Amino acid sequence: MFSIHSDPLAAIGSHGSGGQNVYVCDLALALDKKGWEIDIFTRQDDCKKELITHIGNHSRVIRIEAGKPEYIYKGNLHALFPEIFKKFKEFIESSENGYSLFHGHHYDGGWVGVRAMEEFNKPLVENFHSLGKVRQQTQKQYLLKTNDIQAFNERFAIEENIVRKSSAIISLAETEKEDLVNLYGANPGNISVIPGGVNLRQFNPDKDKAILRKKLNFSEEDYILLFVGRLEWRKGIGTLISALNLLNKKIKNVKVIIVGGEISGNNKNREDVEEYERLLSKARDEKVADLIQFVGRVDHENISDYYAASDAFIIPSYYEPFGLVALEALAMKTPVIASRKDGLKITISDRETGLLFEPRSPEDLYKKVVEIYENPSFAAQMAEKGRKMVEEKYSWNNIADQISEIYNNLLKK
Ligand code: UDP
Repeated sequence: MFSIHSDPLAAIGSHGSGGQNVYVCDLALALDKKGWEIDIFTRQDDCKKELITHIGNHSRVIRIEAGKPEYIYKGNLHALFPEIFKKFKEFIESSENGYSLFHGHHYDGGWVGVRAMEEFNKPLVENFHSLGKVRQQTQKQYLLKTNDIQAFNERFAIEENIVRKSSAIISLAETEKEDLVNLYGANPGNISVIPGGVNLRQFNPDKDKAILRKKLNFSEEDYILLFVGRLEWRKGIGTLISALNLLNKKIKNVKVIIVGGEISGNNKNREDVEEYERLLSKARDEKVADLIQFVGRVDHENISDYYAASDAFIIPSYYEPFGLVALEALAMKTPVIASRKDGLKITISDRETGLLFEPRSPEDLYKKVVEIYENPSFAAQMAEKGRKMVEEKYSWNNIADQISEIYNNLLKK
């Protein structure tokens, strides 16, 4: 596998590490359990990390030294791709076994994957995780401008090439498949829709809310709305802040907890801090800054405590190709309110397993929070159904079976 900007063992929740890292790590471990031997190649982004880490029974994370061993924004990595491929080739040529199949993640992993497939004449499976053209459309629609035009154009060309050359594409949601067909001219017959999964043991709802509130220093009386994710404009936290202004007049003790972003300490990330400051200034303008707690990044193994301690989970994204956090909240039986967008509108069945609201509408988000607040038994009913649904459809074991089948079919050809 190639997951170039996303080290599967990275600390999750900063600008450059989120759902893809979790997905690649959990998928590789689930496939490893089924007997696959997986090497995941990523870029060495911290000189304190070892160059090879063993995971599972017979898999490895292998870090390629290219560029400075520090965080580099993925849009600035393009010039390093040839060097990354060259080092990968040197690695493969010096080891005893070649690989039977390649699996690229995102467009950087796909770039290396296409080169590997051509050089070694083996099949390539691709997961995009997000698409540049949809990302740019989202900026145009809501921000009325777009940034990084050159990086976007380079990304589009890379993505189009991957679409043309991959042996198979895995889309995390039907909406991404439609985008690949409509915007990139992909052959629908080449795309399998297989969602991401959730670790059902880690996200276990049998936790005591009162104890966790004490542990996390949350007040017992507060009505807590939780956000978990990277601090990025497209996550729509601005809409949540505006909704909080409205909710403050209706729900006594309403609070918003925002988890994510490396915003303090030695590892502070510049992009995270910029977005944090933008959000804080918006919260001050809306007169709700004292109702919001920015927790910063939380280690993935501790994140379920935050879900269990909250009254509702809000996903206000403007673009969300899949949204692992939706599955995590459903698994934890925390009532979910998500924007009616992309992967979210597929994972969440409106009024069955959660509530959907109009993207970027604080008024609609306000209404949906009030509905859950005033009708806790309806919220609990949806949460019960949500857990059942993730157990049935989103276990990693089940997803690894579907992906193994794709690998096996390609290896038979
Ligand atoms: N996450 C985490 N710590 C944080 C913030 C986020 O472990 O401080 C995890 C979260 O639990 C989820 C992932 O990061 O597993 C975010 O994935 P999602 O698909 O929702 O968003 P993406 O990062 O892909 O945009």
